[in-house]
Amino acid sequence: MSKLFAIFGDPVSHSKSPLMHNLAFNTFGINSCYTRYLLKDGDALRSKFFELGLSGANITVPHKEAAFRACDWCDDFSKSVGSVNTIILKEGKLHGYNTDALGFFASMKAFQEIHKILFLGAGGTARSTSILLKDVGFDVAILNRGKEKLESFKNSGFSTYTFETIDDFDFDLIINMTSAGLSDDNLPAPKKLLLQLLQNTKGCIDVIYGKETPFLQLAKSLKIETIDGSAMLLKQGVLAFDYFTDHQFDLYKVEQTMKRAFDFG
Ligand code: NDP
Repeated sequence: MSKLFAIFGDPVSHSKSPLMHNLAFNTFGINSCYTRYLLKDGDALRSKFFELGLSGANITVPHKEAAFRACDWCDDFSKSVGSVNTIILKEGKLHGYNTDALGFFASMKAFQEIHKILFLGAGGTARSTSILLKDVGFDVAILNRGKEKLESFKNSGFSTYTFETIDDFDFDLIINMTSAGLSDDNLPAPKKLLLQLLQNTKGCIDVIYGKETPFLQLAKSLKIETIDGSAMLLKQGVLAFDYFTDHQFDLYKVEQTMKRAFDFG
């Protein structure tokens, strides 16, 4: 029987996930299709999943925490970070996983000699990736526009700052984990503050992909090495596909197949 998968998000029209997964379904001869669904209300995720008759889903901004709450069961890592980006249906129950953090970690290998990292943003993606990076030994600090989301990071032992309280400007790598620049032309922090931070950094990553964000433009104008979120997207997609297809395929081959999605611009 044919299976249907989807990505839920708001916005979601930019997402390359349908192209990546459909390329892999076709290449490996799997009778499945992957679509996108604009979801405004994260609390409706569970009912929409069943209403659409899905076998699995990915979840993007801003619903990863809602996805965690929507699941009947979550693996230990997604439980520890409270955020889910991959759901599969197993015997009528929703099982949740998080492939963002490992995907990000794999993409970060483009940078060497990194010890101290600053995350801009404190949403679901920042939460999962910062915890993994801290666990493997990086010194991670979080800078966010609002105070509210910083509380849980503080309780997990991270240094946390708002634009008004930051007093450390010396980081090897600065990562935009906000949605600023995704469907607007905003910088993730005031320009004056970013210029101060960028003076001392070796590299910048923006997890947004498919466009050069104002953050990456600013970093590039200062001749700082940058990468966008394409590599992370690819790696997290490969891991999600592995869950969707019950670990049946060679991940190197899956990655080579999904990579072709980026040839379409
Ligand atoms: P969330 O909605 O959970 O969090 C958004 C964060 O961005 C919050 O910290 C929020 O701050 C901050 N923010 C939003 N707008 C602005 C702004 N204009 N200025 C400053 N801060 C802002 O999002 P996610 O964590 O799920 O996703 C974050 C980004 O990561 C998105 O752009 C998403 O597309 C990208 N992403 C990319 C992936 C990839 O594979 N390349 C995978 C996963 C995510 P506040 O608390 O103050 O509201």
